[in-house]
Amino acid sequence: MSEIKKKNIISEIKRIKAKKNAIILAHYYQTEDIQDIADFVGDSLALSQKAASNDADIILFAGVKFMAETAKILAPEKKVLLPDMNAGCSLADSCKPEDLKKLIEANPGRTVVSYVNTTAEIKAMSDIICTSSNAVQIINSLPLEEKIIFAPDRNLGNYVLNQTGRDIIVFNGACHVHEEFSVEEILKLKDRYRDAKIIVHPECELPVRMIADYIGSTAALLKFTKNDNGNCYIVATEPGIIHQMKKENPQKIYIPAPPKDSTCGCNECSFMKLITMEKIYKCLKNEKPEILIDKTILIAAQKPIRRMMEISEKLAFSK
Ligand code: SF4
Repeated sequence: MSEIKKKNIISEIKRIKAKKNAIILAHYYQTEDIQDIADFVGDSLALSQKAASNDADIILFAGVKFMAETAKILAPEKKVLLPDMNAGCSLADSCKPEDLKKLIEANPGRTVVSYVNTTAEIKAMSDIICTSSNAVQIINSLPLEEKIIFAPDRNLGNYVLNQTGRDIIVFNGACHVHEEFSVEEILKLKDRYRDAKIIVHPECELPVRMIADYIGSTAALLKFTKNDNGNCYIVATEPGIIHQMKKENPQKIYIPAPPKDSTCGCNECSFMKLITMEKIYKCLKNEKPEILIDKTILIAAQKPIRRMMEISEKLAFSK
């Protein structure tokens, strides 16, 4: 797209947003230009909180479907738009309701803690939701005798299990992006950049987590690079976050961790990148595609998300 066309589209987006009392919420894995036009940029937890607490009539979600669904669950009276309904998530898709149902039935009495990266239907089957920012704290907030099923991410689940030492059965799902990072390639980079710190998202596989200097959610990695006294970071999560890292500390060096297959570019989330400026413009103008959720599922999904938000708020106040 030419620069002039892009500028025109951006000014139209701003005009329509103001006219329709709409806001754009963008995830950290969106492209730089989309992050820059958003009213709010954040991780899943922050975006859920923002969706629940604003005066807009329309929320346009620049992210993937489960995130837009979460916004709709928390703000059912608002119109929630997703510019491309194909913007799914391999992790959310890896957890089918019938498979989770089987696991729950085979292990009765366990509390079901589901990661926010799940469909509305899976959320409706859960007791409590968590994000990668608060998963450890959410599990630690549950009584010690409580046994847990964690769904759907096996890497985050195993990380949480190790951090908490709790009795947790982990569902066998995964994110195709976070399982793509190559230990060998990261170590080669580390050889070239001796002072670099390896910072890793907990959805990455154990061998990558084992070589990490720091493990944390996307928001935690951003905070780490902001406050840390180092100067160079090898970043093992979706590289979209590097835009915010550069904004916070432009003088530091950020190197995206390479994928196992150097030809595929698969350390980027192809679902996130389906959202484009043109699609945002059309979506705001036409007010579609719109997220619609069956009312029974929506009501059932509210409870576990609200439980997470209440615990997160209490934890924030107790810090
Ligand atoms: S990066 Fe992974 S978990 Fe996040 S939206 Fe993309 S596929 Fe889903």
